[in-house]
Amino acid sequence: MWIYRASFEEMVKIRNYRDLDKLRSEMLDITLEIIFKIQKRMEISEQIGDIKRELKIDIEDEKVEQDVRKSVLELSKTIRMDPIFSGRLLNMLLLESIQLQQKQQEKNSPRHTHLSIFMKAKQLEASGKKIIHLEVGEPDYPAPKSIKKALIKSYNTKQYHYTDPRGVLKLRQAIGRKIGCGVEENEVIITAGGRFAIFSAIISLLKPGEEVISIEPSWPAYKEFVDFVGGKMKILRTTLEEKWTPDINQLRQMIGYHTKIIIINYPNNPTGKVLDEKNIAKIVSLAKDNGLYIISDEVYSDYAFNGFKSILEYGYDKSVMVSSFSKAHAMTGFRVGYGVANKEIIGKMARIQAIALTSVAEPMQHAALAALDQTPAENVKLIKKRLDLISNKLHHMSLPFIRPDGAMYVYPKLKGLIEDDITLVEKLLDLGVAIAPGSGFGQYYRQFIRISACQPEYILEKGLETLRLVLFTR
Ligand code: PMP
Repeated sequence: MWIYRASFEEMVKIRNYRDLDKLRSEMLDITLEIIFKIQKRMEISEQIGDIKRELKIDIEDEKVEQDVRKSVLELSKTIRMDPIFSGRLLNMLLLESIQLQQKQQEKNSPRHTHLSIFMKAKQLEASGKKIIHLEVGEPDYPAPKSIKKALIKSYNTKQYHYTDPRGVLKLRQAIGRKIGCGVEENEVIITAGGRFAIFSAIISLLKPGEEVISIEPSWPAYKEFVDFVGGKMKILRTTLEEKWTPDINQLRQMIGYHTKIIIINYPNNPTGKVLDEKNIAKIVSLAKDNGLYIISDEVYSDYAFNGFKSILEYGYDKSVMVSSFSKAHAMTGFRVGYGVANKEIIGKMARIQAIALTSVAEPMQHAALAALDQTPAENVKLIKKRLDLISNKLHHMSLPFIRPDGAMYVYPKLKGLIEDDITLVEKLLDLGVAIAPGSGFGQYYRQFIRISACQPEYILEKGLETLRLVLFTR
């Protein structure tokens, strides 16, 4: 009888296949176990969320997170797991819990921001109610006349096609010249508003589980961008009492293995603060020491009343400067903004823009080029005058605030005159005045409101008088 004898190589192969099957089955079991445990974790997180809601305590607790982080780091060391990897996994788990608890909370009491109040005010207007808009950050004055000609020319000369994802060369060159600092055209990208410049920078530079540090109170979109990417937003809180100056030591302590980006925004929305050069230099130096990117949102830089130094002047290669035509030239609906960074970062941002939009609409880019010839000086004077008016009225009401160094807003404290910002915002809306709740710029600012200077003086006066009546007549 003929007996087949497997060769030595074949036997090794059979054994390898058997081992492979066994290991795969073990791996599947572990994967299912992990998923099961994660589900258990989410259920516990939901219970914790219920308790936090009842106790009226904040969802995020930096101290608790730090303790968990420490334990995970220690375990990683013991079992020789890469702490960068375990930390990223942990951040993803923490983020899932936070989002779950936020969703739970929003089901009971929806979160209000300046945008949600704007939408509500628009609905009221559609039903015939007159509304004074002190909530929006959208200039009421017209865009420059010169852009009308540019748009018509763009049509007549058929300049209405797809462009380089980074934008038309002439506009990038003109922006480079305007900024100075030796900025070249391949270090500029024209984006769909300053918003898309920040969004594309974050998508380009951040991996899920990595951290971004933002200074609050802040424009809420930063957190939305980071959440969207699956990153972890860490908040450096500032206070009115400290004149909205970030504590640099605290910032230093917040930087860890997974920190990738620091976002700054001066002149600031909502406080109007411009941070002094010394402190910016300290932030740059921390970023340098830790290899972090800095995204500097400078969309209000033209509205800086006592001078302003762009992040680009600090000569740090890992910075992304963002600006826009929306505010300085009253061109919000044109959706033209830009980012300036080294050409590798610009290349990454361009890839995102190419995927999402191909490019910014060409006629809008020509309009923006024409706007560059116009100085926004008159707009700036107008906003400054209105901010002075708002500040004087608030001063008379004895509401604490810092006089804005720039931007278009004043951010006063309610000093316990009313339960919280939302109660006030709803009362004011009933009386036909829309105002932005302070908590839209960070959960710790329920005793603040943001008043925007994007209305003529007589309307501002009317709105502020209603505010005074609500706060001071019982
Ligand atoms: N950054 C800040 C701080 C803002 O307030 C805004 C708009 N409100 C933007 C960026 C984005 O503006 P845009 O996309 O219109 O350029």
